[in-house]
Amino acid sequence: MPSYPDTQLFIDGNWGPAAAGGVLPVLNPATGEQIGTLARAEIADLDKALAAAKRGFAVWRNTSAYERAKIMRKAAALLRERSEAIAPLMTLEQGKPVAEARVEIATAADIIDWFAGEAQRTYGWTIPARAGHIAQTAVKEPVGIVAAFAPWNFPINQIVRKMSAALAAGCAILAKGPEETPASPAALIEVFHDAGVPAGAIGLVYGDPATISSYLIPHPLIAKVTFTGSTPVGKKLAAMAGEHMKRATMELGGHAPAIVFDDADLGTAAKLLAGAKFRNAGQVCISPTRFLVQETVYDQFVENFAAAARTIKVGDGLAEGTTMGPLANARRVQAMEALVQDAVQKGAKLVLGGERIGNAGNFFQPTVLKDVPLHARAMTEEPFGPVALFRPFKALDDVLAEANRLPYGLAAYAYTSSAATVQALSTGVESGMLSINHHGLGVPETPFGGIKDSGYGTEGGAEAIEAYLNTKFVTVA
Ligand code: NAD
Repeated sequence: MPSYPDTQLFIDGNWGPAAAGGVLPVLNPATGEQIGTLARAEIADLDKALAAAKRGFAVWRNTSAYERAKIMRKAAALLRERSEAIAPLMTLEQGKPVAEARVEIATAADIIDWFAGEAQRTYGWTIPARAGHIAQTAVKEPVGIVAAFAPWNFPINQIVRKMSAALAAGCAILAKGPEETPASPAALIEVFHDAGVPAGAIGLVYGDPATISSYLIPHPLIAKVTFTGSTPVGKKLAAMAGEHMKRATMELGGHAPAIVFDDADLGTAAKLLAGAKFRNAGQVCISPTRFLVQETVYDQFVENFAAAARTIKVGDGLAEGTTMGPLANARRVQAMEALVQDAVQKGAKLVLGGERIGNAGNFFQPTVLKDVPLHARAMTEEPFGPVALFRPFKALDDVLAEANRLPYGLAAYAYTSSAATVQALSTGVESGMLSINHHGLGVPETPFGGIKDSGYGTEGGAEAIEAYLNTKFVTVA
């Protein structure tokens, strides 16, 4: 068993305990046992972190884009170097198989590299004036100090998107990390610090989420808010940001439709969709959830999908051969039990799984339910766990109506060999991201974000850095 560190607060370039000395326990989701503690910030710690961020911002915004990019590329290289040491920490605190933790870290390094390049491309422009003696320019400036709130499902990748974009733009960023999974994000902060990000330009705190957000968001030193998490919490934080006129990015929940037409390559679709569904035990905002399969191939497809799901080996993420770990916390197991029970009571057929495994740790079986009625709670609430919900459909119009039925609009997936169907889906599906005939979401250079109740703003691609920049118009006679 690798050793697991206690996590402290990172304020003004130093790790330290909370001023009041408070700590919270950290549990291993595979055993339920305590593996460490984290420091619990109070208002006095936040004040210290904000004062440091003000000083750090003054230094970082005046560091050239070229130098910022250089420091960020060094951070990416350090993260790659430390992957073998960080991956088991992530598995111990979050549960995911260590191979998935390594992929997450490699992706995080790519994200840092991508935004390092973006730092050097924050172009402004000149605007032809109405008189010859006037020069008009629009320039980009960092928005200021960012308050970031990141969840536990991807302990490094959720925070790295925010941190890389903010740092590339020249902002300072104070992050509230995920209390359940604190050590791997702390290791990420460490690489930025070791690479040369100045004291105060990055900070990391943990504590009571509501106390921290309700103090930071209205605070005059905070210029921008970015949150990843559930839609109900996102709506509260967005309202608070609105009340205090703070810019905001909200990356919230989803309930992705995965549409399979009878002309698709069904073998590939079953394999890729089962892989995507059970990755990170389904605790992924873009996880495929409502599997809508054309009735002519419905029974066969459900069988193929279940066969792929049967090959999943559930276990401790550190054990050799494990392909799905425990759920990250006990709340998720209770949520899965309740959603499955409700669906079955309302008429869904249980094809596979449906129960927790053992009494120690948060293990839950890969679960496949078919003929799930629309009034089952799981068809409306985001399951955020290893549960696949199947329903048949007849024709394109029916399935588009079902795909767009929910207030969510994050990811959507489809499998078909028809160009006409691809075209109809591309214009008809209401989502921020749509992946057809492969699982192609989440790379740094492409947009990543939702519409409707899934939030607003993108955390990937060429637009992502804009969320951390103001446009200033300067006209000179
Ligand atoms: P939750 O709604 O209590 O918390 C979700 C996240 O928001 C956590 O990281 C939590 O620390 C944070 N949070 C909660 N209240 C907050 C507040 N007042 N201020 C700032 N941050 C706050 O739910 P949970 O039980 O931790 O997770 C379950 C649900 O959260 C899932 O069903 C899923 O919808 C959502 N979630 C989404 C993502 C994502 O990637 N979009 C990630 C994790 C969780």
